[in-house]
Amino acid sequence: HAKDSGKGCGATFDQAMRDRVTERLDLEFDLRRAVEEGEFEVFYQPIMSLSDNRVAKAEALVRWNHPTRGILPPTLFIPVAEETGAIEEVGAQVLDEAVRQAAHWRRNDRTLSELKISVNLSPRQLTSEGIVDQVARTLHKHQLPPEALALEITESASMDNVGLVQEIMDGFAELGVSVHLDDFGTGYSSLSILHSLPFSTIKLDRSFINNLVEEVESATTIWAVVMIAQAGRLEVVAEGIETHDQLAKIRELGCDYGQGYYISRPLPPHEFEAFCRTKLDEGARFAIPATDHA
Ligand code: C2E
Ligand code: MG
Ligand code: MG
Ligand code: MG
Repeated sequence: HAKDSGKGCGATFDQAMRDRVTERLDLEFDLRRAVEEGEFEVFYQPIMSLSDNRVAKAEALVRWNHPTRGILPPTLFIPVAEETGAIEEVGAQVLDEAVRQAAHWRRNDRTLSELKISVNLSPRQLTSEGIVDQVARTLHKHQLPPEALALEITESASMDNVGLVQEIMDGFAELGVSVHLDDFGTGYSSLSILHSLPFSTIKLDRSFINNLVEEVESATTIWAVVMIAQAGRLEVVAEGIETHDQLAKIRELGCDYGQGYYISRPLPPHEFEAFCRTKLDEGARFAIPATDHA
């Protein structure tokens, strides 16, 4: 009867809760081992300059090469790492590896001699003790010029403590490292933050690009953001380009750079090198409008 079925539900619920807690503890424990064993890998997603179709930049995106579960995306472990604090270790490893790789490419690969690299900083990393020194030391260790590095932060990271974030961003500016505002347009105070903090670049969130071709409002919003950016001498990267039409549209709207699966997925280092050497030379796929009309 009712009492039993109620109990039954409770038992199922408890079991589900227990499973989730166990899973979470496994993940925390696993993460700690992964940090020690160095199981993280960095993939690189090409960012294309829309004026000349060259890969001008790359975003470093962490992957966890888990011994039994295979390659895990950051969405599966970054939030937990952020909560437990493991993000500081994971982040330090990603920064070190991405800076090492960028320095290597700029020195040894003729097509990549001017490549710029972007590294994501979570809110906790951004405000962790000594982050500016850490970045400075990493650049020095691998002899990467500071203008080759950008740090991507989100609005939520910046709004929690504007004063502290301003201080940290001033530190980065002194080093010569630029800061990009990631996932622009997903928060509540996007416009005011552009005025209060010294970003060099706006990364338009991919939700704008998603319905760009069907919806007039998205195009209008992007156009307005490009205007605001130009007024403040900021550059605009459009994220999440998945189709030829979207690429054509953001180019028409005046974005400076494009990033998305249509151009390339995030790639392991040797595939990134190969992509930069061959794909863009073929031209046709990413043809700039002038070539299109010819
Ligand atoms: P994000 O910084 O906004 O990075 C862009 C994400 O969008 C990446 O997902 C990328 O693979 C994905 N993406 C790129 N183009 C397309 C597209 O055309 N369509 C779709 N649907 N997605 C696209 P990923 O690599 O899974 O990373 C997810 C998020 O995890 C990142 O979002 C970033 O917030 C975080 N993250 C990744 N690597 C790191 C890291 O090293 N440190 C920290 N703190 N966070 C990281
Ligand atoms: Mg990013
Ligand atoms: Mg983003
Ligand atoms: Mg995003």
